[in-house]
Amino acid sequence: MSISLPVFIIFGVFFFLFGACAGSFLNVCIWRLPREESLVFPNSHCPKCGHALKAYENIPVLAWMILKGRCRYCGGTISPRYFFVELFTALLFLLIWIRCFQEGYNLNILLTFLFLGAAMVAVACIDFQHYLIPDEITYSGLGFALFLALVHPAGLVQGQQIPSFVEPALLETKIYSWLTQGVLAEKSFLALRTTAVIHTLAGAALGGILLWVFLEGGKLLFGRVRGSAEKPVSLWGSASGFVLADTGEFTHWDEVLQRAGDRFSARIRNLHSLVYELDGKEREYVLRDKHDLELDVQRNTMYIGDKKIPLKDVQVLDAEVTDWSIPREVMGWGDVKLSAMVGALLGVDAVLFVLMIGALMGTVIGGGVYLISLGRNGGAVPFGTFIATAVLLWLLAGDELFRWYLEIIKFRHYGVN
Ligand SMILES: [Zn+2]
Repeated sequence: MSISLPVFIIFGVFFFLFGACAGSFLNVCIWRLPREESLVFPNSHCPKCGHALKAYENIPVLAWMILKGRCRYCGGTISPRYFFVELFTALLFLLIWIRCFQEGYNLNILLTFLFLGAAMVAVACIDFQHYLIPDEITYSGLGFALFLALVHPAGLVQGQQIPSFVEPALLETKIYSWLTQGVLAEKSFLALRTTAVIHTLAGAALGGILLWVFLEGGKLLFGRVRGSAEKPVSLWGSASGFVLADTGEFTHWDEVLQRAGDRFSARIRNLHSLVYELDGKEREYVLRDKHDLELDVQRNTMYIGDKKIPLKDVQVLDAEVTDWSIPREVMGWGDVKLSAMVGALLGVDAVLFVLMIGALMGTVIGGGVYLISLGRNGGAVPFGTFIATAVLLWLLAGDELFRWYLEIIKFRHYGVN
């Protein structure tokens, strides 16, 4: 690409600063989206004392360093996350610019990468902390993909059908033709847009379906958390949920019994008491032998020993158990929507890459997390964080990694050179 070094550097500085500002906005999203607060009101304020921040205290990266991580008014600590998200996003935008420049990618791809990069930083942080991926992010991603397909269809990224990049003229005199390519292309206005929209929707559908298949497979493989204890641990339950062992954490039945076939089971060593309602009256479960009972809780029913009680009628279950098995959702619909968004913006190749890398990280890192996280949200693994990390890897290098990988398996397999 023919731009001079100073111009390249000026743009580099611009994208770094742009990234720092975007990071500042992402910090607001990371805090407010999972709490369902408005992104616009009120202005930035200290979460501890509520003091509104002055303009200079909002300067990305620098403000946190100047304030030494403390609120000027109440002295409360400001999470270093603010600093790191801003700095990371600044570097990310700079690297995306360098990559798009080197590869001669057009404006469409540059915008897609910047948008996805920012969105993935937010998803990674939010899912890690809250185990959720806000619809605001995935839906705006799908909307953005459709918007690009309609406004600038020639720059399609979908399915890696990146066209032969228009005379790589990012700047200078060719900027006009670059911006308007597609709009002024020889092909009919409507045909281009229809194709682009179909590509986008197909990418989204395939992305969603691939992850859904993954989700079902993951459920079969990793869908239960089993535990056992030499010394019996306490199990307390009611119609709405349970507390297992000393975690003290209350889990709703709905969280673990999401599907018709899901079962929570445990071996009861001692049953202290089981109170339930029958015909509007409280009953106590009476049994001569209260040891070694099988407990099996399904979506609407609790089976205990040979007794069957509607789950909604259970008032108190107080027991000690030695072995248990809790169903676990490996991924959620948020992950499916996230994958659809990646498919819409980057195409199916990217989805395959992202799932491959995401699953690898999920198994290696998530496996460790899940061993020590029993009771923490039913032992969930923030899979969205791994997907988001894999997308970032794709944005910066994945394309090449993936082609390299495909060539190895293809050529090795067919013995072709
Ligand atoms: Zn404060």
